[in-house]
Amino acid sequence: MEKIKVAYNQKSVDQMAAIMAQLNLNTVCREANCPNMGECYKKKTATFMIMGSQCTRNCRFCNVINGRPQNLDPNEPENLAQAVEKLNLSHVVVTSVTRDDLPDGGAAHFAKVIEAIKRRNPDVTVEVLIPDMKGDPASLDMVIAAKPEVINHNIETVADLYEQVRPEADYRRSLDVLAYVKRTAPDILTKTGIMVGLGETYQQVLQVMDDARDCGCDIFTVGQYLQPSEAHVSLKEYISQETFDAYEKAGYEKGFRYVASGPLVRSSYRAQEALVNEKES
Ligand code: SF4
Ligand code: SF4
Repeated sequence: MEKIKVAYNQKSVDQMAAIMAQLNLNTVCREANCPNMGECYKKKTATFMIMGSQCTRNCRFCNVINGRPQNLDPNEPENLAQAVEKLNLSHVVVTSVTRDDLPDGGAAHFAKVIEAIKRRNPDVTVEVLIPDMKGDPASLDMVIAAKPEVINHNIETVADLYEQVRPEADYRRSLDVLAYVKRTAPDILTKTGIMVGLGETYQQVLQVMDDARDCGCDIFTVGQYLQPSEAHVSLKEYISQETFDAYEKAGYEKGFRYVASGPLVRSSYRAQEALVNEKES
């Protein structure tokens, strides 16, 4: 298959969009008009959103549409694997809306996507950013069995803000997802992240780090919350670079293998660096 030569300018972003449309795929990068697109594409990384664009939950910080999700597209795993090949990517992040309507939370579909990518692109590393799948071990086992290099599940915010920010989620359940993955498959890197600027305190962020480390979590990300609209949960504060730097330092001191902390950090930002560090350590 012909691989496109990506020059990482507007033309390449448009080229990528054309391939996505042709294969009926979505990237978070483009949908969210992510400010890191140039940098990530240059590093041959992109984040794909699978299982449709309608979420069964309605987190108050998130711009994804809440509604009745579409049926799963059986061609999606193979189409996504083809896109990875055409774009000559080296690291792929795959995420999804939450699919509480599916008995397995979409785990089998995630597994098919991972397997299809790896079949067609054996050198590509795969990171999945999964919903909590209601903490169901059988669902998590399906994702683990497909052997992605990284399993990420975002805590998103500090425990005390869950009711206000993530009313349908559960802080403890999210931690349990991370702990279960690490216990079941110690070789898979586990990752989590939070947004800051929602009114949390410095100490509360450190507590999330401690809780994640207690679950054996390897990678931690911290990024600035940006309020998508007036209807979303209010932005309380723009966090200073000094504080982001302090979070990064604290994260390393607490034993994370890799920490990314900064205003523009998204959970997939510089995702591949953690793996490079891992190989070198
Ligand atoms: Fe895409 Fe994530 Fe990079 Fe943004 S940070 S461009 S969503 S891979
Ligand atoms: Fe957005 Fe995820 Fe919450 Fe759905 S579960 S509303 S995709 S953050």
